Amino acid sequence: MNRKNIAIIGAGISGLMLGCILREKKIECTLFERSKTISEYGAGITISPNGLLLLEQIGILDELNKSSCNPLSVCFKYSSGALIKKITSNEFGNILTTNRRELIRVLFNQYQNLGGEIIFNHQLEFYDEKVNKLTFENGSSYIANHVVGCDGIKSIIRSKNFNSRETPDYSGYSAWRGIGLSDSKHINLYFNSNSHIVCYPVNNKLETSFIAVFKDKNKNQETWRREGTHDELRNDLSEYDNFLQSIFKSSSKVFKWGMYVRPPLKTIFKDNITLLGDAAHPMLPFLGQGGNLALEDAYIFGSLCHKFQSNFELIQQKYQQARLQRTNKIQRMSKQQAMVYHATNPLITRTRNFLLRNTNIAKIRLQDIYAYNAIEEMNKI
Ligand SMILES: Cc1cc2nc3c(=O)[nH]c(=O)nc-3n(C[C@H](O)[C@H](O)[C@H](O)COP(=O)(O)OP(=O)(O)OC[C@H]3O[C@@H](n4cnc5c(N)ncnc54)[C@H](O)[C@@H]3O)c2cc1C
Repeated sequence: MNRKNIAIIGAGISGLMLGCILREKKIECTLFERSKTISEYGAGITISPNGLLLLEQIGILDELNKSSCNPLSVCFKYSSGALIKKITSNEFGNILTTNRRELIRVLFNQYQNLGGEIIFNHQLEFYDEKVNKLTFENGSSYIANHVVGCDGIKSIIRSKNFNSRETPDYSGYSAWRGIGLSDSKHINLYFNSNSHIVCYPVNNKLETSFIAVFKDKNKNQETWRREGTHDELRNDLSEYDNFLQSIFKSSSKVFKWGMYVRPPLKTIFKDNITLLGDAAHPMLPFLGQGGNLALEDAYIFGSLCHKFQSNFELIQQKYQQARLQRTNKIQRMSKQQAMVYHATNPLITRTRNFLLRNTNIAKIRLQDIYAYNAIEEMNKI
């Protein structure tokens, strides 16, 4: 049977980033991806300073910059479009907004340039940790010295090898997403009772990503592929201003899906398996940190593999020490942010808007997250 050194399951943000770090250090690894090619949804993603410094470190930031944007400010607004508060990017630190497809494309090219191996059409079905055997749905199997679960929120490794009873739960929030057109150069965040919308440019071609999140008792499916209609979207989001309505209208397709969560884990490794990214700590996207944390996880885990060679027991302990507290904290904060954004009590919304307008609360909360430097943290280990 074919033997692999480090088997990475899933070629998303964490899997590809880990592949790049390991290959840069000439460590043998293989990526297994269920899709038949590298694929991502056409949706926006924001990368904050804590993620950007890692993309710069592996030498792909300049390439990504070519097809992305650096918004001038974050504007908090009422649904009518009236401004509550504007924070310029100088105050926040540099934020990059892009299409997820671009991020994945640039990471994948880098992995390939470093001679990385990727095996497509391989959906992991089962991992038997007693004999270190990976079995895929197409019937093939491999032996691996170490397995890294980078397989996202629905992680099969987490479900089968960590806690067989646990599956993702519907969060009570659903979302619309799409990519329309506008000439805005800002991240605009709109509040309404029970819903909020974030939109930002993803490139210099006027393409503008929007994500509209609302409370919904119906358990919509956790799939980014379910297409909805413009009529349904208008029905759900009619109170928002003309600027947003024109972005919705210009989006050729709109998608609606349910947001799911999993509880925090006490440990993110078991036997010779380690979890990274959403497999380890899926979170509501209200602080825009899931992808950034996936980059941090991959940087730290990959660098530890280099530092401690094949001593995976030590690598796992150091990885958990470095990561768990931070990821659990941000997972918790993302949940709290949902309550702040979706408050319905008029007293609470008035207080939120007052604090936003008159204090630096939004900036302070985010600056703390953005200031984390995984390279410096790694150097301390
Ligand atoms: C609406 C929304 C907006 C967001 N906005 C932001 C943002 O602005 N900034 C930010 O930092 N984060 C954001 N996030 C979060 C971010 O998208 C995720 O945290 C990030 O994609 C996690 O990366 P990952 O590599 O762990 O998983 P994924 O990106 O989900 O990748 C998992 C990979 O594993 C593969 N896979 C799955 N199962 C198997 C299997 N059994 N066998 C083989 N392969 C498998 C999948 O095909 C996929 O390629 C947002 C999320 C949502 C839902």
